[in-house]
Amino acid sequence: MGIRENLELVREKLKIAAHRAGRDPRSVKLVAVTKTIPPAVIHEALASGVQALGENRVQELLDKQPHLPPDIEWHLIGHLQTNKVKYIIGRVTLIHSLDSWRLAAEISRRARERDLTVPVLVQVNVAGEESKFGLPPVEVPDFVAEVLSLPNIRIRGLMTIAPLVADPEEVRPVFRELKGLAEGLKTKLPGLPLDYLSMGMSNDFTVAVEEGANIIRVGSAIFGPRKTKEG
Ligand SMILES: *Cc1c(COP(=O)(O)O)cnc(C)c1O
Repeated sequence: MGIRENLELVREKLKIAAHRAGRDPRSVKLVAVTKTIPPAVIHEALASGVQALGENRVQELLDKQPHLPPDIEWHLIGHLQTNKVKYIIGRVTLIHSLDSWRLAAEISRRARERDLTVPVLVQVNVAGEESKFGLPPVEVPDFVAEVLSLPNIRIRGLMTIAPLVADPEEVRPVFRELKGLAEGLKTKLPGLPLDYLSMGMSNDFTVAVEEGANIIRVGSAIFGPRKTKEG
């Protein structure tokens, strides 16, 4: 199947899932994950209406940016090393992977130099997988409160990567927990614009949408299986 057909299928599934949850499908942003995908192929997705792209590596994102139209939203969805922050400030719409105080401080410092305020999501390791980045859920409320003291970074919500399982129903509790965590934060820190829940990938985005995701990050369901190794 081609990219256009794949996208139609993803959008159809998204619509059904949203309706099942009594939600407007237009309230869910589809981020097309383009890691390992060359610009020529990404253009096909753009021609089919994709507006937001997700990359998990800073260098790959910077390499591709000049080859794609300027009005695209770029999302950094992978782990961000502190020494790479300076390259990414001002070049992405949203950083999904804030996972440490050191990183938050560096983002704020570099953003301040550029007179910007950078929107981020806090990555949460809900399932406690050792192989994954992200804060344990119990640490999130204090972390969010502390980051409030930094002037040029703004937490806009939470992100998680669910464990890879055969049956996506198995990870429904993971998504439910992230949603609950966000609700708790809103109660504890009213006035904070915690609008975004970034959860759900190719194999589990319908369940994520049913549980409240409003950003989904979908790669292989659009572009096909990735051939090269990725992080
Ligand atoms: C690769 C990646 C995705 C997309 O994965 P697919 O299974 O191909 O949809 C989503 N989120 C992150 C953080 C990723 O690294």
